[in-house]
Amino acid sequence: MGDKIISIVVSVYNEEESLDKFYKETLLVLEGLTWDYELVFVNDGSVDKSRTMLDAFAHENKKVKVINFSRNFGHEAAMIAGIDYAKGDCIVCMDADLQHPPQSIPQIIKKFEEGYEIVSMVRSSRADGGYIKKITSAFFYKILNMLSPIKFERNASDFFAISNKVAHVLRTNYREQVRYLRGFVQSVGFKKATLAYDAQSRVAGESKYNIRKLIQFSVTTICSFSDMPLKLGIYSGLFVALFGVVLMIYTIIQKFVHDAPGGYSTIIVAMCFMFAILLGVIGIIGQYISVLFIEIKKRPMYIIDETKNMNDSLN
Ligand code: UDP
Ligand code: MG
Repeated sequence: MGDKIISIVVSVYNEEESLDKFYKETLLVLEGLTWDYELVFVNDGSVDKSRTMLDAFAHENKKVKVINFSRNFGHEAAMIAGIDYAKGDCIVCMDADLQHPPQSIPQIIKKFEEGYEIVSMVRSSRADGGYIKKITSAFFYKILNMLSPIKFERNASDFFAISNKVAHVLRTNYREQVRYLRGFVQSVGFKKATLAYDAQSRVAGESKYNIRKLIQFSVTTICSFSDMPLKLGIYSGLFVALFGVVLMIYTIIQKFVHDAPGGYSTIIVAMCFMFAILLGVIGIIGQYISVLFIEIKKRPMYIIDETKNMNDSLN
């Protein structure tokens, strides 16, 4: 075994149906590497048999480490905890449903040996999800890139690898509650490489993301990377002022030409229009205040119930 270690961080939430297969396939790849490995499972408050299964893996293999959360904290929190505890020179985050093929790990190691610090895995195809997911995600990235000063990779996934140096940056800075981990990884700089992979279908079980979560995720991501929407107030103010001037000129002309100023309906239309803009802007400000509110409380990103095979505390 070499002197370098690769840490595989796997977030697990009710994955009893895929865990066995994932563990077998991943272990097969890891055992064949020139690097040493550790497999860090983060159990994000699963309510099925996942926890007992993970404990059993940890029992038979000391290189398997388990972090059990006290409840469900979400996929990103799980990845963050894994990164916090991982000891490797290279840390790879992946899903437990085999949508991220462990067979890509040797290619990732090759990139690290070439001196890259971040390897983003880019989906070359999406087996799941269909057209609606494809179109909505393309639309989301378009808006995000339009609003944010940092440009994001469109097909980036939650499958990525970072060096210990990058992990250190994420551990010490970037402790935000309202966050977009993938975006953080893309925005820290360092020598980056991308590798393509074919996204597989889930081996078993259901996707845990529903449309409500996705919308919420899109809104918080935009809030965490861009203050552009906040400026909408100024722009819409200017726009409404311009609109007001046009309306004024029109009304004056009406008065002199037809001796009849605009009536009741004009007032109602103008009022509805302006209130819509006003309330919309207030809503956007509210969204940012909610981010401030969450951040200021500094609640923990995750709470750990118990760990397995993790003999020393946080590094
Ligand atoms: N996951 C998690 N916490 C959650 C939801 C999901 O740790 O609250 C894990 C899940 O077990 C899987 C990964 O995050 O390993 C990705 O979730 P999923 O496959 O449901 O998302 P999709 O691949 O459909 O985007
Ligand atoms: Mg998945």
